[in-house]
Amino acid sequence: MARIVQKYGGSSVRDTDRILSVARRIKQCRDRGDDLIVVVSAMGGVTDRLIALAKEVNPDPNEREMDMLLATGEQQSVALLALALHGLGCPAISFTGAQAGIETDDTHSKARIRSIQPRRIRERLEQGKVVIVAGFQGRGDDDAITTLGRGGSDLTAVALAAALKADLCQIFTDVDGVYTADPRLAPDARKIDRISHDEMLELASLGAKVMQARSIEFAKKFGVDLEVRSSLNDRPGTLITKETKDMEDVVIRGVSADRTEAKLTVTHIPDRPGRAARLFQILAAAAINVDMIVQNVSADGFTDISFTVPRADLDKIRRRLADRIQKEVQAEEILYDERIAKISAVGIGMRSHSGIAARMFTILAERDINIEMIATSEIKISCVIREHAAEHAVRALHTAFGLGRDDRGASDE
Ligand code: ADP
Ligand code: ASP
Ligand code: MG
Repeated sequence: MARIVQKYGGSSVRDTDRILSVARRIKQCRDRGDDLIVVVSAMGGVTDRLIALAKEVNPDPNEREMDMLLATGEQQSVALLALALHGLGCPAISFTGAQAGIETDDTHSKARIRSIQPRRIRERLEQGKVVIVAGFQGRGDDDAITTLGRGGSDLTAVALAAALKADLCQIFTDVDGVYTADPRLAPDARKIDRISHDEMLELASLGAKVMQARSIEFAKKFGVDLEVRSSLNDRPGTLITKETKDMEDVVIRGVSADRTEAKLTVTHIPDRPGRAARLFQILAAAAINVDMIVQNVSADGFTDISFTVPRADLDKIRRRLADRIQKEVQAEEILYDERIAKISAVGIGMRSHSGIAARMFTILAERDINIEMIATSEIKISCVIREHAAEHAVRALHTAFGLGRDDRGASDE
């Protein structure tokens, strides 16, 4: 008998037909005798609708109340799934994150899991029940409901798999697995059979929303292998697992585009020690994650600093931080640019191959795509470009790096 954690994303429980079909899949597994812990997201689109509703009543909503609101999406879907299973004669019980023993810190909207006390889950498994847990939520220090960041049900699943020492953690979604690029952007993208935690972490952080980045960080830390697969068919998916030597043979595993960031430029800052520190301290204290940073060369004793942040945090910066930044950093103004995209190429093979950055810049230059910011690590290269060029750039890189279905030169099969 195996202990399996299964996670069904919003697209897999989009409507009651899909919920019933997920229930049938779960029942089949249970009939084989496996212990099942099922994590469910809100029905597709519900979280976005709740966010829009909140903004209608308050354009600058309080984060504690937002978490209270957003967590209701997952409460609907776990209860509906439990009811669907009962209808099929399968014993099941649903839990909120708090009931499941998921304890977090108090960073509303992107809380970190501190510990899991799975006592209730274990008791119910022993009674032969399928345990259904609301994804994306936990309980903070003062008992407030917290949420784990967009896409956070993936993290709930990984954390439960680690805490319960599950034999398998399956992520069910609306694609057959992790592809060499988002199949919506590059129609000839190929499914990857095996990918390392590090590559998946980079791809996820760089826009491949098929997995939440923090869930992969957690999976790597606790050695959890994940299988990403479709809830619509029985085809084998993608295994996300620890790195093996042969994985380095592939130079580029995949390409991605991220359109969720915005670029800010703080202009005419006195070029003196401590200004950059002050700027980023203010952002850090507001729990805003800064990604790329570029500082211009100072010519006249003043400098400009550009950096990217999540677009979702722009309102907060404008309303609550902009004045303070300007004053304390003594900047002239803050410019906001939401029309950017970050495109990236990722692969652990880059460690042992040179010239990949040059190739990437050449591919973009040949298509007349201007590069505004660059960031590299051992296994990735990212460029910020104009948003409208993102799709074109992803396709061009995907083809030129030989990732497409018709060109198996650089493939892993
Ligand atoms: P879920 O509702 O199951 O959590 P998501 O919408 O969060 O699903 O993630 C699945 C989507 O991720 C796919 O429909 C696909 O468009 C997108 N995606 C982006 N990059 C990739 C990639 N490299 N491989 C597979 N899917 C990707
Ligand atoms: N419902 C949440 C979201 O839309 C969490 C998730 O889907 O994983 O981000
Ligand atoms: Mg998701």
